[in-house]
Formats: sequence, structure tokens, C-alpha cells
Amino acid sequence: MESKPYTLPSQSATVLIGTQFGDEGKGKLVDYLSDQYDIVVRYQGGANAGHTICFDGKSVVLHLIPSGIFNEKCVCVIGNGVVIDPVALLEEIAKVEELGYTVKGRLFISHNAHLIMPYHKRLDALSESNAQGGQKIGTTGRGIGPSYEDKFARKGIRVVDLLSPALLQEKLRDNLAEKNKLFRNIYEGEEIDVESMVREYEEFDKLMDPYITNTQLYLNRQLRQGKTVLLEGAQGCLLDVDHGTYPYVTSSSPTSGGACTGSGIAPNHIGKVIGVCKAYMTRVGNGAFPTELLDETGETLGQVGHEFGATTGRKRRCGWIDLVAMRYSVAVNGITELALTKLDVLDGFAEVKVCNSYMLDGKEIRDFPTDHQTLSRVKPVFTALKGWMASNAAARTFEEMRPEARDYVAFLERELEVPVTFISVGPGREETVFR
Ligand code: GDP
Repeated sequence: MESKPYTLPSQSATVLIGTQFGDEGKGKLVDYLSDQYDIVVRYQGGANAGHTICFDGKSVVLHLIPSGIFNEKCVCVIGNGVVIDPVALLEEIAKVEELGYTVKGRLFISHNAHLIMPYHKRLDALSESNAQGGQKIGTTGRGIGPSYEDKFARKGIRVVDLLSPALLQEKLRDNLAEKNKLFRNIYEGEEIDVESMVREYEEFDKLMDPYITNTQLYLNRQLRQGKTVLLEGAQGCLLDVDHGTYPYVTSSSPTSGGACTGSGIAPNHIGKVIGVCKAYMTRVGNGAFPTELLDETGETLGQVGHEFGATTGRKRRCGWIDLVAMRYSVAVNGITELALTKLDVLDGFAEVKVCNSYMLDGKEIRDFPTDHQTLSRVKPVFTALKGWMASNAAARTFEEMRPEARDYVAFLERELEVPVTFISVGPGREETVFR
């Protein structure tokens, strides 16, 4: 066949996302995979996401810096889709350096990422504390939602603004004039002093300057040169502002589509989408959760799985895995393979349940409802599978796992029509079965 004068994209970018409500154990997977990739990128969210990584007997929580930072060969990028709290970022850089890892020259921050300002944090806390019970979204109060609001209202302050002091001052003054009116007249609280904020952010400029780069250009150039990129999602598909259980969602797009807008990497560079899913399910804060267990079983899952937030310490709601939601997640994200985590948490159960459909008004449905109100009314239909009642922690191959645990994995693969290629059988880096 005659050769044609065009080349196919490299497709050497992989997206790794949470398929559920976040906290699926993405951090461990990114850390595990980061030696296969040259660059790891965060593309949305802010310091509300806490990724826990366990290695060499240490447990480290990262909020903003991509989990690849503990792999010295890896370059880390905070993309344009992330909202950055400079205080949190600088603290995290110091923490990683204290652990003996180099950050300068290995971490790049997008010019176009938006900054979280002190007024965003204040607004976040005030609007949440003024919301009535069920209307509380359960935000982490870190100013992330209000910063995204300003971004889409085209009032946001971006990293690039730090590089032009005069413009920064002007923008800060304009923004504060408006926010201070809100504090004074609506919330009857104190105003924020503009002069001290200007000085504070000019100081951040000096500290952040070495990391600021045109990351869109950098990433696309690196991909063209054959480098491999892992895009690390925070939160999970069911918390996506478009595709999640709106309004109980996060303010950004954790789904695989968000990886492109949040990094500037074109979609045709993406070859694989890895969906991380926990062997059971958890949710933090309010919002529908069809498979939630409000009984002793749910309590046991939470205790055994240490289901307390890495950022806030909040207790997570627990339930069995929901394949109706997962099928939706597989479709929306174009998941090509699944990473199953925390399988060990199910070790002590004689029976393990899986929700494969819902009952809605007397009818069985297999499709995930698109609106929160309908989702709140469904009842899960469970299939019970035999538990394995033993540890798989020493297993490194699928064959070394207990037969019932393998049956559980096979059940998920059959129902979701996606291969499970990683199985995490414990928190440690090495406690992983790779197929
Ligand atoms: P992420 O935000 O998706 O990275 O998830 P989190 O860090 O909030 O929660 C995952 C927690 O589970 C962390 O404490 C991990 O160390 C831990 N973890 C990850 N994989 C496993 C596993 O296979 N078994 C157990 N027991 N813990 C795990």
C-alpha cells in the first residue's frame, strides 16, 4: 500500500481516573505506575484531594503535587485545570523536599492555572455554614468551589498574573472591592485588607516563579518527542460537575475528557484510560449513594478499610460495589482497563455483595439515572458471591489469589466488559497483582 504523508499521534498519554466517588486509591496506582512514565500531570481539582502513598514504611499524603514526585525520574506537572492555593503548594513542596526528594526542575506549574485567594476560602466556609442540612455539598472549605466560580465568571486570578505586579494589584483590588461588599453586607463579617493581600501574593510570586512554565506547550512538545505522560485524576467520575450526581459534585471535571481541557493535551494523544475502582464503595459528604450500608457491615467496611478522609479526617459512608454506576463510569470515561483496589478489605466477609441493577418504581433498571432525584429513589438489587475468608496479600499473580477472590474479579470483568489489569491487595507499593 502506498504510504501516506501523515503520521498517527503517538497515543503515549494515559489517563488514570477514579470511577466512583473518589478515594479509590488512585495515589497508590500512580506511584506504582510512575516509573513507566516520564511525566505525571494533575489536571483538575485543588488541595481538597488527598492522595495517600505508602512506601519504605512511610505514609505520605499529597494534595496538589502529582503522586509521581517520589519517583526521581519523573517530571510532575500541575496543569491549567487545577486551582492552586499557594500556601498549600509551598508547604507541600517543603514537605517533599524534607523527605529527601528534589522538586526544583522536576515540578512545573501552568501559567493558566487559577489561584485560590483568601477570599475564596472565606466564601467557601461561609456559604457552607449558611446552607441548610441537605443543601450542604460537603465541601472541604478550601476555597476550591469559589475559585472555580471566579474562573468561569472570568474574574479569576491566574498564576501568570503573579508575573505582572501592576496587573495583579489591579485585579486584586477589583476582586476585593466586590468580595468585601459580600462580607460586609451579606455575611456581616470582617473585610479583607487589600494591601496585606497584595504584599502576600507578591511574595508568593518570588517563591513560585521557578516552577511556572507554559505547560500546554511543554507537554505537547514532550509527547511529540516520544515521552510518555500519565494524567492523574482527582476525586472520581460520580463527582464530575457535568457527569456526576449534580449538585452533590465537585467544581471540576475529573472524567477523562477533563484530562484534555485541564492539561492542554489533545485527545488523540490518549491511548489508555485506566479506571481505579475500590472493591466496595465509599462516599464523603451528602448526595445519593444507592448501595450505602447503614448497618454493621457498612461500619465494618469503614473500620477495616480505614475510611476516613486523607484531607479532612471525615468518616466516609460505605457500601457494596455498584456496577450500575460503574458501567456508566466505564462508558463516560472510555475506560480501557480497571485497577481494583482494597480487595483485602473484603478478606473477612463470608459473603460479598455486588449491586448489578436497581429497582425504580417496581421496575428493574440497569442504567444509571442522570438526575439526583431519581437516583435517590432507586433500591439496589444485590447478587451475593462467596467470600474468600483469607488474605491475598502475598499474591503477586492472579493464579496465586484465592479462587473465590478470582471469581469476584471475573464477575466484575464480565459485567463491566473491561479487563481488570491491576489488583491491589494491600496498601504497600509491592502488594499489587499485575495481569
Ligand atoms: P485516592 O485519593 O484515590 O488516592 O485515595 P485515598 O488516598 O484517599 O485513599 C486510599 C487509601 O487506601 C490510602 O490510605 C491508601 O494507602 C489505601 N490503599 C490503597 N490501596 C489499598 C489496598 O489495596 N488495600 C488497603 N488496605 N489500602 C489501600
